Amino acid sequence: MKIIFFVDEKKISFFSKLLKIEKKDDLKEAKKELVKIENFWRQNEPFLEGLFLKLFNEELTGEIKIFIFPNDFLIGASETVGQNILFGQPSRTTNFSLAIITHEICHIILSKNKNKRPIIVDEIICLMLEDYIYSVLDKTLLSDVWKESELDFFHLNAMKVAIAEISENGPIINRNINNLIDALSNKLSDNILNIKPPSGLINNLGIK
Ligand SMILES: [Zn+2]
Repeated sequence: MKIIFFVDEKKISFFSKLLKIEKKDDLKEAKKELVKIENFWRQNEPFLEGLFLKLFNEELTGEIKIFIFPNDFLIGASETVGQNILFGQPSRTTNFSLAIITHEICHIILSKNKNKRPIIVDEIICLMLEDYIYSVLDKTLLSDVWKESELDFFHLNAMKVAIAEISENGPIINRNINNLIDALSNKLSDNILNIKPPSGLINNLGIK
């Protein structure tokens, strides 16, 4: 799996208009962020690659493109078919950008797994992986990084299940992903399994 980082002027100008945060230094700011984020990524690449290999049990092929935006765009999304990730958020922990990009890569990898399951199951798994990055690299937890009050209903419920699952059965690194998908699909109530992500700006653009 090849991870390539980009700053794309057209994408930045598209989103700056859409999000109504037009300012002069967009491009410069994104380029500065790219250097920082790519450095963090490259430093931790053996750890991250080992993690994906262990969890998803296969050599990952293909390319994933990470498009970096200025911090105040508050974007974290993946377009699974094209294997593109959009990221631009202020860091909440030292390795926050890695945790979010890993979360989005997890969505891309899970999208290749065609076993039928509710969409919230993927979100729970990606959050469990995000938690693992925080716990190993930053000695902190998902629940310390995200306040419940700032999450939408879908992400709030996914986070609660992820935290409960980790405290009950340990970190994601010790799990088999297919078993985890089955376990979550079987044990969660329909009330949880039927929760759908909010339709918003990013979803309307065909990105999730
Ligand atoms: Zn997600």
